[in-house]
Amino acid sequence: MVKINLEATAVESREQRLGTVVYWGGDAKELVEQSGYSKCGKGKRGGEGCRLCEAKGPFTQGSVCSEQMVECQAGNVREAVLIQHSPIGCGVSQSFYNNIYRVGLASRNLPVENLKMSCTNLTEGDMVFGGLEKLRLTIEDVYERHKPKAIFIGTSCATGIIGDDVDSVTAEYTEKLGIPVIPLHCEGFRSKHWSTGFDATQHGILRQIVTKDPVKKQEDLVNVINLWGSDVFGPMFKNLNLRVNYVVDMATVDELAQMSEAAATVSFCNTLGSYLAEGLEQAFGVPQVRAPQPYGISGTDAWLRDLARLTHREELAEKFIASEHERIAPEVEELKRKLSGLQGFVSTGSAYAHGLITVLRELGITVNGSLVFHHDPIYDSEDPSQDSLAYLVENYGNVEDFTVSIRQPFQFYTLLQKHRPDFILIRHNGLAPVAARLGIPAAPLGDEHIAIGYQGLINMGNVILEIVKRKKFCVDLSKHVGTPYTKWWTDQKDPNILAKNPDIIWEGVK
Ligand code: SF4
Repeated sequence: MVKINLEATAVESREQRLGTVVYWGGDAKELVEQSGYSKCGKGKRGGEGCRLCEAKGPFTQGSVCSEQMVECQAGNVREAVLIQHSPIGCGVSQSFYNNIYRVGLASRNLPVENLKMSCTNLTEGDMVFGGLEKLRLTIEDVYERHKPKAIFIGTSCATGIIGDDVDSVTAEYTEKLGIPVIPLHCEGFRSKHWSTGFDATQHGILRQIVTKDPVKKQEDLVNVINLWGSDVFGPMFKNLNLRVNYVVDMATVDELAQMSEAAATVSFCNTLGSYLAEGLEQAFGVPQVRAPQPYGISGTDAWLRDLARLTHREELAEKFIASEHERIAPEVEELKRKLSGLQGFVSTGSAYAHGLITVLRELGITVNGSLVFHHDPIYDSEDPSQDSLAYLVENYGNVEDFTVSIRQPFQFYTLLQKHRPDFILIRHNGLAPVAARLGIPAAPLGDEHIAIGYQGLINMGNVILEIVKRKKFCVDLSKHVGTPYTKWWTDQKDPNILAKNPDIIWEGVK
């Protein structure tokens, strides 16, 4: 397993811990083999077993940074405040996260409120003389204004460059205010993939919020690491007499603190939950479910059985599994009939894509291609039972075009042209217009829990039936809009050609 070091204030980046890559092309089977998960899974980390060679493109069209992921996690904790110690430009996503936060709260029947985020607004003078006085002033202001139970301080490229000693200020104010003031080291340039920002937030929570040596254990409480998705785990867990503790988004500070009292930890996606689940296990003795992710019938069966084993509810789980199989069977058969002959394409974060492809294939939909935004050769537990890509390949077959790309629309365009799917599943909606220009409808998965569990099959089947109805609209649209790419690029067949042969780009600008 990867050793979680809670002594250090900064988390190790994904590439340091897991050997993460953001650019690769090939098929899924090859990626599994090159990742060498089971060989890495003996404490060797990404070393000996991993033969993965990352491709390198000549440019990047756009991305997201770790600091933004800190906004979407630490910034969404109720009763806490996030201070972005950064120039104001880093805070530009506050507005759309506010929208997501409010919708998420409403969908969980929680009191709707605005995010509590502030920015130190570093300017040129601060870059020369340092920004710590502004940080102190901002901490005092937000404490006075909101009386929070915790204050997170997210760093930025600017503070990383000037070397502001954020740790000493957070230590000073933790003592002065009597609440956790938590440094989150998430400078955008620290990591090539934004998911390090998830880990930075979770590291800070593990260090300074989670209750150490809890006096009581809650044997029916399960930590569910998730984002803003609707409450699908709660009703499912009721059948096992279990309660959910949703973390990190929209949790209160006390709900985060009680994670060490829980009987187990699960996650809707290994990409998001890997670090926190392993940290809770290593530092607080809370076991995590070590099974495939809860997507499709067999994945959900195995996942529930492992949860039942950890919480001693095997009998209840078997009863629930049998009744759910019986309940969904007729509807799934009907959906398979209606969806027969369709081809789908998945473009989301890494482990989430593995789960979605599972669901599509259980519904009888062909999936020959996928674009995932990064790839972790291993997860923090290094347990092969969590190797979600290997599980997909071994149980549902290869995915012939499995491209890893940090959300590059030019590659997405080429992939869609090549596969011409009937629809795409997408999580980062900025890519959906690329598909629409090619006449392909997209299902933006705003509610990331929609595909979870047995009901997830039915939900996804119905979503797809709805979106393929929009095909004609998208085809009409495609006849009237152009693409921003030159004919030279739209004629290319290989989305990775620029990585293989960077000089070829000059042919395109002739
Ligand atoms: S932290 Fe760096 S990469 Fe992230 S938004 Fe700010 S300047 Fe950009």
